[in-house]
Amino acid sequence: MKLSTIAATLAELGAKPTQSLGQNFLHDQNLAKWIVDQTDIAPGEAWLEVGPGLGALTEFAQARSENGVLLEKDDRLIAWLRTEFPKLEVVHGDALTYDPRELFSRGPVKIFGNLPYYVSSQLLFHFTAEPSPAAGFVLTLQREVAERLCAEPSTKAYGSFTLLIGRRWQVKLLRILPAQIFTPVPKVDSAVVSLTPRNDDEVPECDGGLFTSLVKRGFAQRRKMLRKNIQLERWPEFAAALGVPETARAEELSLAQWVALTNLASGATGDHSAKAQDVTGEIFDVVDEHDKVIGQRPRGEVHREKLRHRAVHIFVINKLGELFLQRRSRWKDVHPRKWDSSAAGHVNAGDTYDITAARELDEELGVRASLECIGELPSSEATGWEFVKIYRAMHNGPFQLPPAEIESGSFFTHEQLTRWVAARPQDFATGFLECWRAVAPKT
Ligand code: SAM
Repeated sequence: MKLSTIAATLAELGAKPTQSLGQNFLHDQNLAKWIVDQTDIAPGEAWLEVGPGLGALTEFAQARSENGVLLEKDDRLIAWLRTEFPKLEVVHGDALTYDPRELFSRGPVKIFGNLPYYVSSQLLFHFTAEPSPAAGFVLTLQREVAERLCAEPSTKAYGSFTLLIGRRWQVKLLRILPAQIFTPVPKVDSAVVSLTPRNDDEVPECDGGLFTSLVKRGFAQRRKMLRKNIQLERWPEFAAALGVPETARAEELSLAQWVALTNLASGATGDHSAKAQDVTGEIFDVVDEHDKVIGQRPRGEVHREKLRHRAVHIFVINKLGELFLQRRSRWKDVHPRKWDSSAAGHVNAGDTYDITAARELDEELGVRASLECIGELPSSEATGWEFVKIYRAMHNGPFQLPPAEIESGSFFTHEQLTRWVAARPQDFATGFLECWRAVAPKT
């Protein structure tokens, strides 16, 4: 968008740039196109622009794909954006309170924007919070914030921000932008960064909650030694295992060492692949077409020979009436990374459905609650020859998700799930879809 067009459009709207909304409009068209090109949005691919303003980036994104959402807080711009970009969805609201769960039904979403600087780091945390619907980000930030995101250990810029975002996202500083390409000219330079999901093998899995708490404690007083900040009894032993001096400060540990420290502190190895598939010893009751027990067989044989057996699915509902879904870990032998019921599992030989439901709720979510059976499914090809009982439990969380089994989880509204299941059934484990179709009206 040219400077003259920006001035004319603002005049037409009777508006002036608002400092409190971080309004600095980009007037270099080549750079606008370059920024959008970094997103690599494919035709038809879903995207979200945070703070479109007068559409400097939007026109280039729309040329790539019309499956876009514009999220703008300034009420003076909304009608204009709707007229200018009728094919896009324009959401009028504060990006900080926007519900990212709304995006799952569109599939993984590319998120970009020249962010309003007064909230840029909060916005990053908001849209990267687990589970995130983002496929990746291209963002213009204050240069100083971008440098903190990409910082190396033992530098001043390296800190909790670097690590908390960096555990899941590979951040690259793509380009420094001079302040003069915006109007009004901001006081600081900017930088464009990209965030792409880290590869599975790059950083071992760990307990995300514990990682966050250790990192925050570690950096609470940067100048102090780490052992004073985090107060871990076995620190001397952990420091030796990490290969760092006992006197190390938080900034001396790399991302890999912070993850390793988290796993040492929680007693996990970080290698969850074996645990997730440690199902070799399981024995199931085999049942007939009337769900009567007729024998016992090992799990592998039951599945290979398509023998009828039993399973439970649990739907955990919170006080808002939302349903908790878990995202299966990448190490699961079936349906890795698919969304599934709150908890689910096979009935082991000699156990009842009720006992199994209580056990799975405890093992997978780390909670106890009273369980009510709200439906059942007959054994069929669609259920993998399982007779399934579906239970409902009321709980608001938080849950303790075992990282080997579950990557993340979230409550979703009934409406969000209905839309998501209809648009993208491939995102879900088939067993959940069967249960959802059977009991959705009762949840
Ligand atoms: N993308 C436009 C450009 O490059 O010219 C505008 C960028 S300007 C730096 C930031 C934009 O974010 C403005 O349009 C502003 O109104 C909008 N904005 C500010 N705070 C916001 C918030 N909390 N949620 C959504 N949009 C916001």
